[in-house]
Amino acid sequence: MRRLRRLPPLALAALLAGCVGSALAPVLISDEREREMGQRVVTSLEQSDGFHRLDDAEVNAYVSGIGQRIAAASPVQRSFPFSFQVVRRDEVNAFALPGGFCYVQTGLITEAQCEAQLVGVIAHEMAHVALGHHREEIANQALLQTAQGMVFNEGSPFAAVAAARIASGLGMLTFNRGQESEADRLGAVAMARAGWDPRGLRDFFARLDEISQGGGGGRIAQMLSTHPSNTARVQQLDALIASMNPPPNLTMDSPRFSEIKRRVAGIRN
Ligand SMILES: [Zn+2]
Repeated sequence: MRRLRRLPPLALAALLAGCVGSALAPVLISDEREREMGQRVVTSLEQSDGFHRLDDAEVNAYVSGIGQRIAAASPVQRSFPFSFQVVRRDEVNAFALPGGFCYVQTGLITEAQCEAQLVGVIAHEMAHVALGHHREEIANQALLQTAQGMVFNEGSPFAAVAAARIASGLGMLTFNRGQESEADRLGAVAMARAGWDPRGLRDFFARLDEISQGGGGGRIAQMLSTHPSNTARVQQLDALIASMNPPPNLTMDSPRFSEIKRRVAGIRN
């Protein structure tokens, strides 16, 4: 699996400068501060080797349209807007950066079997942002490093590692099991409120198992292939969706998704 490791050192330093305050007062990272940090990571990520935007207005507009519908419907709101960009990459993944900058990789679009599967993953990533998981993790890492005497500064290799993880090919921090489950729950609720069938998210995790069993596990981003296990997520989502009692008319698929999927497949080949 190819990752985006090489980042401009100056951009990293700028990002790290934004982390200093959080080491002392993790709960005080404001929305504005998170957005600033996210913008720095965006700059690093988009300048790094191996990052390729998909320059296709139609596909980007489609993904952005999904994201904005989810953002409007989510019961948990942040004060900053979400933005969306499709990335040319075969790996099955989507990720969100601090501050609501969301990326969807072409591998996810081509492997999703219906629109609601794609929407589910996008809603899950947005839920991490809405729930403040990025700033929690940034604060935790800063606290840990402070405790170990590795206070963030521009020359600290530990700080560089932390920042590189954020802007790596995974595009995100590592979330814990509880945060993943929370994001699954909010993602499912938000997508149902936006009119999509939350079983799409459930089905996507089942789909990941199919891809792995078919020998395609290497194409699945680590963050989607590890904790909680796909089986556990499917079970949790089954229970959640049963308790939500979603109306029968929610969207599982659309002709537009098929068109977009064909378009992306054509671009890749
Ligand atoms: Zn997640």
